[in-house]
Amino acid sequence: MSYSKKERLSNLALTLHNTFPELDTLQINNIHKPLIICDADEVIFDFMNSFEKFLHSNSLHFSWNSYALDGNILNDKKKAISKNEIHEIIQNFFKKKTTSMELVKDASYSLRALADRFNIVILSNIPFQFYEKRKKALIKYNLNFPFFANKGPKGKAVKHISKIYKGDLWFIDDSPYQVKSVKLETEKTNTILFISNKKLERLMNNKNYGDFFSNTWKKNVQIISTRKNNL
Ligand SMILES: [Mg+2]
Repeated sequence: MSYSKKERLSNLALTLHNTFPELDTLQINNIHKPLIICDADEVIFDFMNSFEKFLHSNSLHFSWNSYALDGNILNDKKKAISKNEIHEIIQNFFKKKTTSMELVKDASYSLRALADRFNIVILSNIPFQFYEKRKKALIKYNLNFPFFANKGPKGKAVKHISKIYKGDLWFIDDSPYQVKSVKLETEKTNTILFISNKKLERLMNNKNYGDFFSNTWKKNVQIISTRKNNL
């Protein structure tokens, strides 16, 4: 069968999901258990505290003026560094610190406890070249769940998972932008905006993104368990 160029391009667009590895490789162990899709930075790994220390060691600091990296990383002259410089510092950070980042309080214990009753998938916007380092860190903390690196909004990836897996879905992320993206693509996915870092929480003017807001893993477990029992 031959395809026109236009058809071939649209077929390609359907198979590219901006994840590594491709989501088609995802295997769900127990289809009767609901599935939790869990972010990594700031949800499992204590990103901001590690990143702030890394900035200090590079004569930079974070100004905590808003919920974004852009505009908040200042040099020793108190001037915000450029987007290119931010990209570079993030790349260096992941290169040097991915395997040594500490965990968010109760993350490992809670996820391992939830794994008795839920399937767990980790979906993290870490640059693809650091996939193996992150995998190593997850194994180190006994969190060897299926792990996918993602690029850009996560809504498309979650929608794709919802096609592979028909059961109840949960999504946990610290980014309002990602929670919005998921709700936009798959309305029925239960979402938790989870911000455990107190300084970040103070910068959130609006916490009403998605279905639930939480600032501890204890609360995440409570929300997920209660909702499940009510189904
Ligand atoms: Mg995150």
